[in-house]
Amino acid sequence: MAWRVRPNGQASVARGHTKQAKQGASGAVEAPTRTPVSPAPSQALKKASAAKARPRAQRAPAGVAPDALIARFWGVRGSYATPRVGGGHVGGDTTCMELRYGRQTVVIDAGSGAIALGEELMRRANSQPDQPCEITLLLTHAHHDHLCGLPFFAPLYDPRFHIHLFGPDLAGMRFDDIVAGYMRAPYFPVDFRALPSRRTLTSLGDGDQILLPAEGAPRLITAATRIPGDALLVDALLSQLHPVDGSMVYRFTAGGARLIFATDVEVRGQNPEADHRLIAFARSADILIHDAQYSEQDYGGAAPKRGYGHSTPAMAVRVAREAGVGRLVLFHHEPHYDDQAVMELERQARADFPETITAREGLELRLDCLDGMRRRLV
Ligand SMILES: [Zn+2]
Repeated sequence: MAWRVRPNGQASVARGHTKQAKQGASGAVEAPTRTPVSPAPSQALKKASAAKARPRAQRAPAGVAPDALIARFWGVRGSYATPRVGGGHVGGDTTCMELRYGRQTVVIDAGSGAIALGEELMRRANSQPDQPCEITLLLTHAHHDHLCGLPFFAPLYDPRFHIHLFGPDLAGMRFDDIVAGYMRAPYFPVDFRALPSRRTLTSLGDGDQILLPAEGAPRLITAATRIPGDALLVDALLSQLHPVDGSMVYRFTAGGARLIFATDVEVRGQNPEADHRLIAFARSADILIHDAQYSEQDYGGAAPKRGYGHSTPAMAVRVAREAGVGRLVLFHHEPHYDDQAVMELERQARADFPETITAREGLELRLDCLDGMRRRLV
């Protein structure tokens, strides 16, 4: 497996656990590994180059199995948005990630990063008016940094869009009440239930699975459901590693490729059973996106952040190692840390787990899954 970082900040990940970073003609390689650079172009490299020639937002033609799972970060901070910190490499918006697989678009969390993503989704809808405007929006939990972009998410205000929202019931509240309660007077002038878009809200429980077919709406499935080979499958794990009610961790599986989104988790050994569940859930994933908010100093220093529900990079590395994942992406950065501080945490993590990279706004990861898709087509 290799990371490729293009000049515009996009990165590509080829599957296969080759442990080598391979340099392409199109741009510099970000070096998550200390292994030598191989001059031989990989299959994935060829696919990535071909993909580069296509407009990024172009949807796959109907009936063609997608060849990649593409993740893009629109907000990577935790706790609150931070326009004040130095630099501009990491970005200051709170959590939001977009996942594209063929004709499906999935949004994970609606932090302030969702505002720019919403604008992009409107541009795509306007440029491809013949395509259905269907989005799946998964929420991990309801803390402010994961919801503050929702009232400003442009597709909510457009009648062309059908938005399928999924997330956990929390603190004795149903998921639909949690979301609707966030956009109502006196907190916000527009009522969620009166928006012009079409919205479907579904509560998710621990162990639930969502099937996203090649085309059409996502749906909850049971163990008996036959899963088409060109579908994107989402598994939900309600982790109890975040106060007070936990947070949902998501696993995305497509064509044999596997990506884990595990934010707002504190893996400190205090709750070994919960730690173990997370590690088992992430087993053998190609990519693990994991909370890594605090430096060791802040986590255990004079004003310790222990118990806040967030990990250090060392904790994220522990999960990555024990789960045997291919790559680790550090995420949910502390808003006080400038670019230099965040990248220092990445440097430290790489000493113990070389296949580590830091999430930053605009970073795009491409997870090749064509071969697995061919194997699994039913
Ligand atoms: Zn958070």
